[in-house]
Amino acid sequence: MTFRMIRPVRGVFASVVLTLALAALAGCSFQEEPRIWELSGPVFGTRYHINVVLTEDPDRLENLGQGIVEVLAQVDASMSTWRSDSELSTFNRAPNQQAWHPISADLHTVLAASRQISEFSGGAFDITVGPVVNLWGFGPEARPETVPEPEVLAQRLAQIGYRNIELQEAPPALRTRRSQYLDLSAIAKGYGVDAVARYLTEQGISAFLVEIGGEVRVQGRKPGGDAWRLAIEEPVSERRMINRIVALERHGMATSGDYRNYYEANGKRFSHTIDPLTGQPISHNLASVTVIAENCMLADGIATAFNVMGYQKARELAVRENIAAYFIIRGEGGFESHFTPAFSAYLVE
Ligand code: ADP
Ligand code: MG
Repeated sequence: MTFRMIRPVRGVFASVVLTLALAALAGCSFQEEPRIWELSGPVFGTRYHINVVLTEDPDRLENLGQGIVEVLAQVDASMSTWRSDSELSTFNRAPNQQAWHPISADLHTVLAASRQISEFSGGAFDITVGPVVNLWGFGPEARPETVPEPEVLAQRLAQIGYRNIELQEAPPALRTRRSQYLDLSAIAKGYGVDAVARYLTEQGISAFLVEIGGEVRVQGRKPGGDAWRLAIEEPVSERRMINRIVALERHGMATSGDYRNYYEANGKRFSHTIDPLTGQPISHNLASVTVIAENCMLADGIATAFNVMGYQKARELAVRENIAAYFIIRGEGGFESHFTPAFSAYLVE
């Protein structure tokens, strides 16, 4: 559904397919040399693409493929708001949210990181914003024909806020001060990427690239010693074009932008990302922001936070906190790119 933004540079896949085809032609079914193998499938309403560096071993690949599906199913069963039986949906429905509810370690990790990003961004990132998102028609509820009434918006805004969430670390548990609808859509994909990366590391894979719907994490190097290369897309919805290429050896990278998922009403473009301070879909000249961080969960959440904050405020914060961020702005003469000093280390040129 929302397959977008950053994809591994196409040439990588093309050359993998070609190498494999040549190997098959030559009749050499078992190769000692490590190669890149791609595993892909549907997940979270989008797709995952995983590259692992391995010497040929069909059984091992098969096992890894199954393991990855299980890891992703577990994250989905915990954090999806599209599934009514997930851990999160069950909590969202609970009539007694004010009592402590035991939660999984996975869910605790993501809720704790969400809290940090909310505080760090001055409330721009807020996982309680779901009821306001739904009011604008981007959640599981139907899309509205018109923009919501200001009174209805104000009423919902008064009921939300990340400060209503309370977490307990050991044993992991969750409660709210007043009932909330928690939505991890802006960070769960990144966590899913990290969960797969952790699994691959546990399985002894030292070089891989994991991507889910544009959010990426890499480890190690490609066969031959090159770093993984990732494309930052030009923020246009009609076609896919590359704006910039980065090279990574570890870390997670995520992009948040208004160019894939939006709708128009009264001639105005509305994004599916909401500013929790105003209740309005964000509407500014920042077309996309890409963040590189220690892990993909943080990159994903911070990218969303920056997208809400807009270029000026986000850049200030990113520079002050030494965060690697790449901004694409809609300027008068077309797109303009700006990046923080910490980002320059990753740029290829
Ligand atoms: P995408 O889903 O396109 O990768 P994001 O990672 O930026 O984009 O997440 C957008 C989703 O996050 C929205 O669909 C919505 O469910 C939720 N959301 C919207 N506004 C906020 C916000 N201010 N803070 C946290 N989550 C938000
Ligand atoms: Mg995000």
